[in-house]
Amino acid sequence: MSNLDTAPTESTCPALDPTASPAPVTLSPREVPLGGPRAMSVRRTLPHRDIRTIGAWCFVDDYGPLTPADPPMAVPPHPHSGLQTVTWLLSGTVQHRDSTGGASVVRPGELNIMTSGRGITHSEYSAPDEQVRGVQTWVALPSHAMAAEPHFEHHADLPRVTVPSPTGADLTAIVFIGTFAGATSPAHHYSPLVGVELSAAGATEALLPLDPAFEYGLLALDDPVTVDGVALQPGDLRYLGWGDESLTLRVGGPTKVLLLGGEPLTEELLMWWNFVGRTHEDIAAARADWESGAARFGSVVGDPTERLRAPILPNARLRPRPGRRSVSDEDGAGTGS
Ligand code: MN
Repeated sequence: MSNLDTAPTESTCPALDPTASPAPVTLSPREVPLGGPRAMSVRRTLPHRDIRTIGAWCFVDDYGPLTPADPPMAVPPHPHSGLQTVTWLLSGTVQHRDSTGGASVVRPGELNIMTSGRGITHSEYSAPDEQVRGVQTWVALPSHAMAAEPHFEHHADLPRVTVPSPTGADLTAIVFIGTFAGATSPAHHYSPLVGVELSAAGATEALLPLDPAFEYGLLALDDPVTVDGVALQPGDLRYLGWGDESLTLRVGGPTKVLLLGGEPLTEELLMWWNFVGRTHEDIAAARADWESGAARFGSVVGDPTERLRAPILPNARLRPRPGRRSVSDEDGAGTGS
């Protein structure tokens, strides 16, 4: 997906002080209309005013389900740089095409992960009459991978592992990135990271194993859940900090949640529209290259649809405010997907 906001703002993600984990906090989603002729609203939990990133996860949009009255998702060719897009569906299908020739239809339980490196262009369309429901996330690339060769991966055969419960239904985990409970995803990533979908077939309580070096977030999808005794509403993302070896998840019936984690970032990021960089100049160059049709971004193979134009870049140069997790704008509302 892409940000169709006509006036996005820049958003900074300061590096962390690795000596002290932030306290756990619940991040409630905000509704962000993506705008455009096929308006669609998403529930965004990252970046958040209080927490900008979880490991290298820098963007979390939860969307759908589209109803039969909604037009299908249609995101024409648009660019990315400095990040990986991670597409995870709960229902429906989405057709992806990109400038490397990558193409796939992604389905629930499968992963589309696209590494933009220095630059890539892609488009995404859902099939008509499908009740598409999914989560679009981004992973910021570390500096050493910012100029990597762009590439696309589709993984239909991801590892599944059972998390036993002593008091209810076992949980099934699909590990789509990184390693969880001894199972490792084949997806390429560039910093210590994990992404897992957990499904409960019924009411249960279970201990999820964590890596103490990682900070984590747990996203409640369609039902209330309880994390370490704290109740979450659907759409809430519970930020857990780092240093823990497990968390306790309790659910009242069949449901799914996402667990995202990673080593805290030690680099400051700058996000604007569909780009992640380190400086205002990185962002300005990416925008100028996209608008001029530079070879850096290429064009989507097999999709002649007119591409999205970049919004106007704000004149004001970013000045991050002092302090951990501080922000330079209202909430990164203009960041895309
Ligand atoms: Mn996109």
